[in-house]
Amino acid sequence: LIDGQVVDDHQITVCVRKRPLSRKEINRKEIDVISVPRKDVLMVHEPRTKVDLTKFLENHKFRFDYAFNDTCDNAMVYKYTAKPLVKTIFEGGMATCFAYGQTGSGKTHTMGGEFNGKVQDCKNGIYAMAAKDVFVTLNGPRYRSLNLVVSASFFEIYSGKVFDLLADKQKLRVLEDGKQQVQVVGLTEKVVDSVEEVLKLIQHGNAARTSGQTSANSNSSRSHAVFQIVLRPMGSSKIHGKFSFIDLAGNERGVDTSSADRQTRMEGAEINKSLLALKECIRALGKQSAHLPFRVSKLTQVLRDSFIGEKSKTCMIAMISPGLSSCEHTLNTLRYADRVKEL
Ligand code: ADP
Ligand code: MG
Repeated sequence: LIDGQVVDDHQITVCVRKRPLSRKEINRKEIDVISVPRKDVLMVHEPRTKVDLTKFLENHKFRFDYAFNDTCDNAMVYKYTAKPLVKTIFEGGMATCFAYGQTGSGKTHTMGGEFNGKVQDCKNGIYAMAAKDVFVTLNGPRYRSLNLVVSASFFEIYSGKVFDLLADKQKLRVLEDGKQQVQVVGLTEKVVDSVEEVLKLIQHGNAARTSGQTSANSNSSRSHAVFQIVLRPMGSSKIHGKFSFIDLAGNERGVDTSSADRQTRMEGAEINKSLLALKECIRALGKQSAHLPFRVSKLTQVLRDSFIGEKSKTCMIAMISPGLSSCEHTLNTLRYADRVKEL
């Protein structure tokens, strides 16, 4: 278990979170192939067989800013990832927090809230914990005099199209003006005065996101969900700061190009494209960015203003399933996360 000093001077923080084996996985005797020997190291112990049929473990070692073991809860993950970025938006910067990983690895659990039985309790998700700290900071002595107004929006990007999760999944257009300012036209942005109001919006959006889906054909694994908290000076339309939280599409969708179904293949290609563009945009955070692939995907296009500017900060939480059967996807996830930060 880790607990100690929070480092908050990084522009990019990359962490990994291992979820526990589920009851189902334990029942089918799934083997846990992940260990977290240090607060910043995670190991994958991959069983392999030599040509002479002797078996051995290939150990892959990864280093991140933090590695969260399966005993860590959402509050602990929040403390080291999104929480230090709340200050950023009050200081006039942009902040983003991404949950990346394969379907079933814990992205929605971490961002949207823990599941008690089947019901998602959004209070202990990163969206809600951040919203709470936004109000604490807003009413605290340091920034009160700025007279900032808080608003929130929640939308989904599916197959390169944007849908408003606070307005019956209404389809929205994305426009870019001559100055490369990007706007999601007609996006619901609710002014909120308390954390309770934000909780209602999160609940509403979470429900809209999962409505009408079965686990076998889950839309949420094929879409990116974006929850945003925006600060503006009272009476102004100018953005002071913005915090975006992104529950990304399952990254295994991007590599599945073998599906017989054309629609599924196209979706996979789209997801792949957006995740690759995302990696490049994060890597270039705050640097000269004239040639960055913002326009390649809707995701990076709508987040454009969060990648530019010296005050932008981002954190990525790479989620992993501990089981042997996920080993290949887990290694893919860890290599991607590694590349996000590599110099
Ligand atoms: P994803 O959004 O990445 O597809 P979910 O967040 O839906 O994955 O998680 C899949 C399942 O695993 C859910 O039933 C969730 O409750 C459970 N789960 C995920 N992370 C944890 C965790 N850290 N502790 C306990 N259960 C978890
Ligand atoms: Mg999910």
